[in-house]
Amino acid sequence: MAERPYIVGNWKMNGTRAMLSEARAIDRASQRYMKVEVALAPPFTLIHAVGREVEQIGVGAQDCHAEPDGAHTGDISATMALDAGAKFVILGHSERRENHDESDALIAKKMAAAFDAGLRVILCCGESAETREAGRAEEFVLGQLRASLPELTDPQQQLTVAYEPIWAIGTGKVPTAGDITAMHGAIRGVLKERYGADNAEAIRILYGGSVKADNAREILDLPDVDGALVGGASLTAENFLGIVLAAV
Ligand code: PEP
Repeated sequence: MAERPYIVGNWKMNGTRAMLSEARAIDRASQRYMKVEVALAPPFTLIHAVGREVEQIGVGAQDCHAEPDGAHTGDISATMALDAGAKFVILGHSERRENHDESDALIAKKMAAAFDAGLRVILCCGESAETREAGRAEEFVLGQLRASLPELTDPQQQLTVAYEPIWAIGTGKVPTAGDITAMHGAIRGVLKERYGADNAEAIRILYGGSVKADNAREILDLPDVDGALVGGASLTAENFLGIVLAAV
């Protein structure tokens, strides 16, 4: 695990102001676990409000547009997310890739927009069940990364990668320890090719897909796993803090 593991909650399209108390509870408890970096990505509508509630944890966005501004009704630019209080943005989540037809090329553009605005990026990658069954998981995931990783001035600060097998998201299924270790090691290899060994060692690689309090420690103890990206189990402070504790 990284020197400072990173546990990030992705609230997806969940949350109204009634959920601010969960963010507050997560923040207060996280102040006791400074060894762990904790962050939440609420929906756009709550970024500002969550940012006002919390002192310790990071706040981020779940997406941004590839353009800095303009005629894009309903979209949010990286600068707008930053202005609302986001410090990072999740890009390339499989739900964006599937539901909004996002290609690696578009994700590369969004990454450039995010970095230009001064946001850090959590870049998601992951294969479908069919791709894994066909024995092509590694080739596919490394291809996603090679197609979207940009040149960076400070890769250690700017970038986090999240490996999220699509078939593990929200299903209760988790890859074997061997499969997670192999994929994270292969991802580290691509980061080395692109950014050199020192940077690659320091860039955190998160695992995401059905992480819960009761499997988190086992996953976080695996080689090259530096934290977790958590969906469903980040929606209540009680569940999410169980995962944060596993990283302490
Ligand atoms: C996610 O969608 O990023 C995710 C990991 O979801 P869950 O934890 O619910 O599987």
